[in-house]
Amino acid sequence: MNTLPKTFSFKMPAEATPLGYRPRPAQVLLEVSRLRKRFPQGDTPAVERVGFTLGEGELLALLGPSGCGKTTTLRMIGGFEHPDEGTITLRRRDITHLPPEARGIGFVFQDYALFPHLNVLDNVRFGLRRMPRAEAKAKAREMLGMVGLAGLEGRKPSELSGGQQQRVALARTLAMSPPLVLMDEPFSNLDAAMRVETRQEVRKLMKAAGSAGILVTHDQEEALAIADRVAVMEAGRVLQIGTPDEIYRNPASEFVASFLGRSNILTGTASGLEAATPFGTLPLSRAANGAVALAVRPEQIMLEPDPEGAASVVGREFRGHDQLYWVQEGERCMLVISGPGASIDIGTRVRLRICDCVVPLV
Ligand code: ADP
Ligand code: MG
Repeated sequence: MNTLPKTFSFKMPAEATPLGYRPRPAQVLLEVSRLRKRFPQGDTPAVERVGFTLGEGELLALLGPSGCGKTTTLRMIGGFEHPDEGTITLRRRDITHLPPEARGIGFVFQDYALFPHLNVLDNVRFGLRRMPRAEAKAKAREMLGMVGLAGLEGRKPSELSGGQQQRVALARTLAMSPPLVLMDEPFSNLDAAMRVETRQEVRKLMKAAGSAGILVTHDQEEALAIADRVAVMEAGRVLQIGTPDEIYRNPASEFVASFLGRSNILTGTASGLEAATPFGTLPLSRAANGAVALAVRPEQIMLEPDPEGAASVVGREFRGHDQLYWVQEGERCMLVISGPGASIDIGTRVRLRICDCVVPLV
């Protein structure tokens, strides 16, 4: 089995895309460059100029709405789809035109693709056919122990829950110690509670095995929760790539600001690190100039009851750990999240204050 992944730090080389960055070359596992794919029936390319790098042991989420090209990108990396343009290199070897089985990449399919007639142990052993029998059996048992399924070796897939089947599929893939595992919506067949539990387990197992992973998802919460970095896609392109924290705090565009969490969009006039806005002069998270759209997260706004206030509460959603308010001020409706304290009734006049940097969008 591989050793635990080394941690790595990043620096931004000159050729990196704006707001993206690359791991240092020595630690790059996968490099995807300017991938393009147009299906014969499609008016526009399904994937257009997609490029990113992945470090050894790193977990990347490809996040975007349905139809934005996530699966097509993954299938090109796996070798199941041929790109019209672009290159894919794995550990500096050009694999763009290799068949899937020659790439040494693991794949976890959405439906797990387990053999129904084989028991759990034999499903995991299947990928180890070239290993001596006893060794393969020991390895399969070790992997099943690692994914928490020791004792269930003799069961058939139909005698397991969805989450357990998912772990068998992962054990089968990780048993081959691939440097990279591709996963397309791997949790979509699980119920909500199971999904949350399984995704943290999968992350832990991938890290323990030292395999890097690319996970396709349309669920922003899942991407933020599991990935080291997230690539946000729209209409065939990668719009932004960065750590969950970076992308949430510093979305580059209105699409990213609204797809990843919720954002209020204001207009303002920026000069350097501040902007004149309907809420007064506010500090900016990065410098900008001229007319700009600004993203403000609902949790960055303070709501104060004030009989003289210019705004009023028009909607409310109690969520236990916090409360969501819709607040109308003139033409503008703002979304505000405040703590679980006393509720403010609908119809109450309030004052809004923005108490943080706001993000200028491109
Ligand atoms: P996602 O996984 O993000 O939902 P896909 O990569 O599956 O998106 O699809 C991207 C676009 O390419 C969509 O418009 C889809 O209809 C189209 N597409 C995907 N696969 C095929 C195919 N085999 N033939 C024709 N069009 C396809
Ligand atoms: Mg898909």
